[in-house]
Amino acid sequence: MFKHFFLSAQISPAKLKAAKLTDFIFCMSLLAVLSSCSVNPVTGKQELAWVDESWERKIGEQHYSHQQQAGGGPYIIDPDLTLYVRSVGKKLAQYSKRSHLPYDFIVLNDSSPNAWALPGGKIAINRGLLVSLNNEAELAAVLAHEIVHADARHSAQSQEVGSLISVGQLAANVLLSNAGYSNKALQQGIAYTGLYGQTRYSRSRELEADLYGMEYMSAAGYDPEAAVSLQKTFVELSKDRRSDAFSALFASHPPSESRVAANEQTAWTLKRGGVRGKARYQQEIKQLMTRKPAYDLSDKAKKAIGEKKYTEAIKLANKAIKIEPLESEFFEVKGAAQTKLNRSSDALKSFDQAIALNDQYYAPILRRGILRYELRSYESAERDLKASLLLAPTQIAYIKLGEIAEEKDLCAEAAKYYRQAAQAGPQNQQSLQQKILALQASCR
Ligand SMILES: [Zn+2]
Repeated sequence: MFKHFFLSAQISPAKLKAAKLTDFIFCMSLLAVLSSCSVNPVTGKQELAWVDESWERKIGEQHYSHQQQAGGGPYIIDPDLTLYVRSVGKKLAQYSKRSHLPYDFIVLNDSSPNAWALPGGKIAINRGLLVSLNNEAELAAVLAHEIVHADARHSAQSQEVGSLISVGQLAANVLLSNAGYSNKALQQGIAYTGLYGQTRYSRSRELEADLYGMEYMSAAGYDPEAAVSLQKTFVELSKDRRSDAFSALFASHPPSESRVAANEQTAWTLKRGGVRGKARYQQEIKQLMTRKPAYDLSDKAKKAIGEKKYTEAIKLANKAIKIEPLESEFFEVKGAAQTKLNRSSDALKSFDQAIALNDQYYAPILRRGILRYELRSYESAERDLKASLLLAPTQIAYIKLGEIAEEKDLCAEAAKYYRQAAQAGPQNQQSLQQKILALQASCR
């Protein structure tokens, strides 16, 4: 302390001025470094970062439930399956570099083979990917890879979030078509969602997720070889044009021969052996495999609706219901086809059954709300539309609520809903603004 003072006293004013300047430059560059650079928690490398952990956690929590709704909703018919996937995921997350993140793992009711991670550690895997895996170690490979995307802040990087928002906005344009079964049209209307599932990670991030994912797998006692065999399967599938089903997964996580080679190298550096868990995995997905033929029929029914073959779609949905009478989706598909055939009372019954089996998924509630609106049952339509909004904020629900408010001559309320509709998605902006302006003039 004294020495420091003494030395300071020796400095001439000129030197002091120079010292202050260098301090200033040093501080400014330090500030610049602090605000723009940080150490990647997984790789230990310096990198540009504009987010802090509280932001990651917030984004993850804000988007998690809407993102699940946009991806088919939670797979509630087999809660044990989600518990199983969650147990494997949590085991792996213990070995992640940021094991304190609020990790969660969920199975979604969607046939497309896909998985995604939100910032902050919220991870989902579709039932369609679970049926494509052979053992628990392959499941661990997928989950560990997604854990790294969250852990190493891949999904929180500015460039990706920016490109994602534009993808989401593009996708949202189809909303009001509602021409076919088009669950997608409903989904795409969910405000600001459908974004992270479509992240296309760069090649270096995919390699990073593979590398550290395999380390986490190995630390948790799994055979890291499973990441190699899985990647090989994906490369084969990506060559096969018939494997369109995998396009979403491959768009976000492009497979390649170089990834196979890198994974083989990584496997050499890790402990040989480890758990594969084939018997256990087959046991855990047994119910899902039993229901698979029913989901295949349901997917065919959706396609038939898209092709305007509504009677065919109803037949397919009925076959699916025969195999699994407790799956809400099959009744929703049936109801969508009946709506197209103007069999409104049958359609209402189908939607009632769908909602009775699962009232935590927005789509059948929204469909019933729209149908009730068409039938001019405004009170019950309003209840459904509002209930659907609690699960997923779609533009179409706000528009229908606005139209109901107009029918009731509730001018200010209608304008409020149209404003919310305009905020819920980039499409229909012009017509919504016109409606709002017209209402503002007539409200007075
Ligand atoms: Zn990936």
